Amino acid sequence: KIEARNIHKSFQELNVLQGIDLDVEEGEVIAVIGPSGSGKSTLLRCLNKLETINRGTIIIDGELLADTSSTGEVVYAPGDESRRIACKMGMVFQQFNLFPHMTVLQNLIEAPVQVQKRDRAQVIEEAKILLGKVGLSEKADVYPRKLSGGQQQRVAIARALAMKPSIMLFDEPTSSLDPELTGEVLRTMRELAEEKMTMVVVTHEMGFAREVATKVIFMADGRVQEQGRPEDIFTNPKNERLQAFLQTVL
Ligand code: ATP
Ligand code: MG
Repeated sequence: KIEARNIHKSFQELNVLQGIDLDVEEGEVIAVIGPSGSGKSTLLRCLNKLETINRGTIIIDGELLADTSSTGEVVYAPGDESRRIACKMGMVFQQFNLFPHMTVLQNLIEAPVQVQKRDRAQVIEEAKILLGKVGLSEKADVYPRKLSGGQQQRVAIARALAMKPSIMLFDEPTSSLDPELTGEVLRTMRELAEEKMTMVVVTHEMGFAREVATKVIFMADGRVQEQGRPEDIFTNPKNERLQAFLQTVL
């Protein structure tokens, strides 16, 4: 569960996020859509502390990650605590970012063993199950360069899941894939959604947003301009910029 209030983020004088509120309930799938430069990636990066915010409140599964004092100063939970809370969110990027010098299985077990200090044999067991889930059981001992983009992205999803996150954040996970490979990645994400994984998905895949999302959020200029059920957003958009945006992408 994510509760984000009044999130502000600027880079120098550029105000990228200008008071974003985001609520994600357990089991919800939120699709975040909007034009390039509207702050979608920045929002995800702020949620899992890859970027620090300039104002606002972030609560993850009821735990305070960041808050703003009465004097306007942003206060994060102490280092260890912050890291633990941020680790509740698994992240999948447009670029798969697999470790090239590690096999698929090693990619999956690296962080659970080294960072989370979990039992190696147990982690390997779970990693194999995850590879089965993403349809890549037979690729455990292969290096990433031998895989297609779609396979690499499915490994990246399995790797994020190996950390046992309670929330998954996706930033345009299919944007760097050839069209014929996007389907297999979207299918994996759809299965996760069916298992009631809590997900926030920045995407240009309007079909996915429409069919899988429980809520769609339209961002422009660092603000949420409109949000609602997919059927309302796509068939009856009220905001003019959303109407214009949908014209260009549908
Ligand atoms: P896209 O659809 O192209 O991925 P986006 O909605 O994800 O766009 P962001 O990547 O969040 O947009 O960027 C929003 C704005 O913030 C852009 O103007 C971008 O140039 C700027 N920006 C993002 N990261 C940084 C940074 N580290 N330093 C300076 N400016 C940044
Ligand atoms: Mg982006």
